[in-house]
Amino acid sequence: MTAILPGLELVGVSHTFGNKTVIQGLDLVVPDGSLTCLLGPSGCGKTTVLRLAAGLETLQVGQIKINDVCVADVNNTIPPETRNVGLMFQDYALFPHLTVLRNVSFGLNSLPTGSRDVLAKEALARVGMLDAASFYPHMLSGGEQQRVALARAAAPSPGVMLLDEPFSGLDTELRASLRQDTLRLIKETGATTLMVTHDPMEAMLVADHLALMNGGRVVQAGLPMDLYRQPNTPFCARFLGEAIEYIGFVRSGEVVTPLGSVPSENAKEGDEVVVLVRPEALNLRPESEGQGIIATVGGRRDLGLQTKLELRLESDDEPVHVNLPAQDLPLTGSKVAVSLDFTMVFVFPVRDR
Ligand code: ATP
Repeated sequence: MTAILPGLELVGVSHTFGNKTVIQGLDLVVPDGSLTCLLGPSGCGKTTVLRLAAGLETLQVGQIKINDVCVADVNNTIPPETRNVGLMFQDYALFPHLTVLRNVSFGLNSLPTGSRDVLAKEALARVGMLDAASFYPHMLSGGEQQRVALARAAAPSPGVMLLDEPFSGLDTELRASLRQDTLRLIKETGATTLMVTHDPMEAMLVADHLALMNGGRVVQAGLPMDLYRQPNTPFCARFLGEAIEYIGFVRSGEVVTPLGSVPSENAKEGDEVVVLVRPEALNLRPESEGQGIIATVGGRRDLGLQTKLELRLESDDEPVHVNLPAQDLPLTGSKVAVSLDFTMVFVFPVRDR
């Protein structure tokens, strides 16, 4: 296995606003050249982490390194403008009194005017906004402004890009196209990128590496698919995708659930456990062909690529609602045998809940 080279690293970082601790002993590694998503619920401290990394917030505890060079600790701090970071923050709006071109060339002020404009125009062309170079921000739509903000962040070719919810507030179509362009630009520049989002689907879609935060800490980090398939807590399992949940007790190494018995490796005999079943763990076969828990297919709702299916289990009064790929689903009213793929079933002691 190749070692991960950290492009950006936060070590033992804690941060307090007044008497409220919002970051608590946080460790975060953004692999060099990766697009890492920092994912977590509202208020868990994601933006604060980004602001600390950018140098917009003074570090109180811990250390921040870029390419193994310390840019901030409790004694020293390198100011934002010399950290070689590009910022695209929600509240880091364009300057209203400057044209699009001037907005983008603003961060290139160490260069002679001629080269500044060349680089700024190149950056605008990459995000499809060159034709708007002489416009003012108020003449642009929200999506166009975000493209310009992206060009501004990328124009100086920073080693590290920090993006805070860069696609929020856009409709689905614009969001998808801006996301596509942003990914392309980031890959072209090769910048180590940390992008904040609270949307797990978005994170799974774009991230090379994922860091999940909760309560001011990174609680799990790794490849997106590993977090989805091997969550280390119920929180991670729930946050990254849908799951049907049951509570049960471990007896002879198994937990009995309405969907059948599930092996329990993470818990001790007699433990009360929470069982989380990913929808794709469910194998549905016609009753005559399969083995497992018998269920009748109830209502269904087409959601496009997926269908929400209601399964009325013979073993439980409570129906199961599950989103499954829309193809080849059993008909309403038919009986199916439900069996489980245990690799997509997670069991945790209830104390971890
Ligand atoms: P969201 O997804 O809602 O943007 P977040 O995960 O980015 O949230 P932060 O914006 O980092 O969270 O905020 C973490 C906590 O710190 C919140 O409770 C917030 O109210 C608080 N906080 C952030 N900035 C300040 C500040 N300047 N002064 C006081 N409290 C702050």
